[in-house]
Amino acid sequence: MREEIKILADYIAENALRNTHQRYDVLDVFINAEGHFSIDELHELVRKKYPRVSYSSTFRAMQVIEKAGLAARLRDVDGVFRFEHFYKHQNHAHLVCTSCGQIIEYDNSEIIKLQKKIAARYKFKPTGFGAKIRGICQRCQR
Ligand SMILES: [Zn+2]
Ligand SMILES: [Zn+2]
Repeated sequence: MREEIKILADYIAENALRNTHQRYDVLDVFINAEGHFSIDELHELVRKKYPRVSYSSTFRAMQVIEKAGLAARLRDVDGVFRFEHFYKHQNHAHLVCTSCGQIIEYDNSEIIKLQKKIAARYKFKPTGFGAKIRGICQRCQR
């Protein structure tokens, strides 16, 4: 957590942003929660610990946290974007249940290795690797 605070503080200083403590409140809740959260879900958690942080402050704080490289945005899971940890959390991809929206993580480092090899073969410079699997989770199959 201390490292993440420093990364956020550095980013705020480098970009001459206002140094509001609410950004650190949101960071605290986000870093200590493991999962994939929409802004609504995240703000619910933030409010429990810091009742004075508004929805829009949560939203703006997450945009800064994302730009600082601490959060990644997942798209098109039931049309809502979600945030997850990004710092030291890169080598995984997702299984997304299209019935209940559950998101399961799996280690995709082998897949990335293979994708890098394929890209090199075509002298292609990859900027992103995707290996999302859509389907129906175990619970929903019952
Ligand atoms: Zn499901
Ligand atoms: Zn994830």
